Amino acid sequence: MAYVITNTCTKDEECIQVCPVDCIHPRKDEAGFEEAPQLYVSPTDCIDCGACIPVCPTNSIFALEDVPADYQSSIEVNAQYYLAQAKS
Ligand code: SF4
Ligand code: SF4
Repeated sequence: MAYVITNTCTKDEECIQVCPVDCIHPRKDEAGFEEAPQLYVSPTDCIDCGACIPVCPTNSIFALEDVPADYQSSIEVNAQYYLAQAKS
């Protein structure tokens, strides 16, 4: 299981500040940050701690089982970001 960020994310990096395993990317100091429409959670590295949820000002982060119906596609979008990174 992993947490998921939806496209309402504003890339303010509040979640990155509290994530204990650095599994939210891209960070501002990483390639692709400017072009990225949102940030993404690594489905393999997230430890489901939930620390990111209360700090998100736009309520854009959900546990996998809590992703609203309208944002189900975000599950794949988060995973695809890391698959693309692995290939590059
Ligand atoms: S649930 Fe924890 S490990 Fe997963 S993205 Fe949020 S802060 Fe990081
Ligand atoms: S705290 Fe919320 S809005 Fe800010 S970068 Fe993280 S997911 Fe996006």
